[in-house]
Amino acid sequence: MSRSQGKLYGQVAIITGASSGIGAGIATAYAEAGARVVINYSSSEDKAKKVLEEVLQLGGEGFICKADVSKEGQVREMFREAIDRFGTVDILVNNAGLQKDAPFHELSLEEWNRVLAINLTGQFLCAREAVREFLRRGVVPERSKAAGKIVCMSSVHETIPWAGHANYAASKGGVMMLMKSIAQEYAPKKIRVNSIGPGAIRTPINHGAWKTPEAYRNLLKLIPSKRIGEVEDVGKAAVWLASDDADYVNGITLFVDGGMLLYPGFEDNG
Ligand code: NAD
Repeated sequence: MSRSQGKLYGQVAIITGASSGIGAGIATAYAEAGARVVINYSSSEDKAKKVLEEVLQLGGEGFICKADVSKEGQVREMFREAIDRFGTVDILVNNAGLQKDAPFHELSLEEWNRVLAINLTGQFLCAREAVREFLRRGVVPERSKAAGKIVCMSSVHETIPWAGHANYAASKGGVMMLMKSIAQEYAPKKIRVNSIGPGAIRTPINHGAWKTPEAYRNLLKLIPSKRIGEVEDVGKAAVWLASDDADYVNGITLFVDGGMLLYPGFEDNG
């Protein structure tokens, strides 16, 4: 299929944390679907440039944009640059995130604040700028039935508690209610807000969970589909959620998890 027949043709998408992992996979999937992509990164300029090269090789358009999503001024500047260069923003993928793991009784305030600042406040700051732009522009029927779409990167840990990761799980639980509240508030304005809840996807964030055969075997005990997810699995879901094929889908988390939420401990009769 050519890009001009893609489900996101002509639309402008900002993807945060797009220099690696899931964000990089979504940037290339969006470019293939015809979107122009803003590849946000916070520190790895070289990796962001590689993602841009892939986008250009696919015949796509885009640019890299440095911004720390937890900093209000930098987020505003990123949206200003996107609008200056591409005219508007149609889609935000709120993907940037990190883990700072520790047993709860040893978790420092710094580790708590850092994870909340990027995983939750960062999603708030980016979503607010996106909604402001969607409200300013309104619906352009040739581009999309919606005035704008936001895809928040959540996790199965918006519902599964996670010992040793209280800050991360709390941030994703927060993303769930942030997403639903914005979806409810702006549905009448034709803005759609949804989340993707990945299970275990092969990226740098969870390297330890799949790098050795033993770690991988243990991981598979948690996954009824008996394979780790790949970034392409999430990329395809993210294209669909942002496309008009999902026009009546609002305020949900689409879990892309190989069945991780299906209580795999009961697989063998419990
Ligand atoms: P990753 O570490 O490859 O990607 C995270 C990206 O966020 C990196 O590019 C990083 O530079 C960027 N980032 C970190 N702080 C930032 C900041 N302040 N501003 C801008 N960018 C920043 O890991 P990933 O697995 O691709 O994670 C992407 C998202 O998916 C995260 O929100 C993560 O919580 C979520 N997730 C991942 C998995 C998984 O199994 N990989 C599962 C569930 C949820």
